[in-house]
Amino acid sequence: MQRRHFTGGRLTVASHNLGKVREIRELLAPFAADVVSAHDLNLREPEETGATFIANAELKAVAAAKSAGFPALADDSGLCIDALDGAPGIYSARWAGPSRDFGVAMARIEQEMTGKPDRRARFVCALALAWPDGYCETFEGKVTGQLSFPPRGTQGFGYDPIFIADGHAVTFAEMEPHAKHAISHRADAFRQLVAACFR
Ligand code: IMP
Repeated sequence: MQRRHFTGGRLTVASHNLGKVREIRELLAPFAADVVSAHDLNLREPEETGATFIANAELKAVAAAKSAGFPALADDSGLCIDALDGAPGIYSARWAGPSRDFGVAMARIEQEMTGKPDRRARFVCALALAWPDGYCETFEGKVTGQLSFPPRGTQGFGYDPIFIADGHAVTFAEMEPHAKHAISHRADAFRQLVAACFR
């Protein structure tokens, strides 16, 4: 498949989530892109009206690229829990409420998991790279694992303290950032993006 390439220069990360922007900056470090966040550019965040991670990533990236006038990379991601039929899924941020309190969101998950022995879950990350003309490339990565309560660890962000990736004994929030980056859903989507769109 013919893919459009990012040929260098400025790239905006279409997110106001500082945890995500930090991780994306670290993952983009080898590609010498001049990375600016949507927050730095004062870009408005569009409403996430899509029904899938890919649709939401695409609408955020296209809106940011059109406003900024240069390419934009957006991430839409979340935690999908098998025993909750994939919830919170695309609503992962919203489960934390307006104050974005993930202590609240993790407590809600622990409560909804009462009496459900199946602890399987996966993090999913959709990445969309868009240009000001509206053209967009999309990729989806995932990492499978198990939920673990109570929350443990202080690294990372969001639901990291309750997620243990398959083959590991500690939560994402107990891992050093480089160890999480080696196996995460975002790293998986990034590998696909880089192979297709970066030289
Ligand atoms: P959105 O993509 O901005 O709608 O938000 C995704 C939400 O999913 C984040 O606010 C986090 O709660 C959660 N999430 C996504 N990726 C991660 C991760 O790597 N670790 C922990 N939580 C994550």
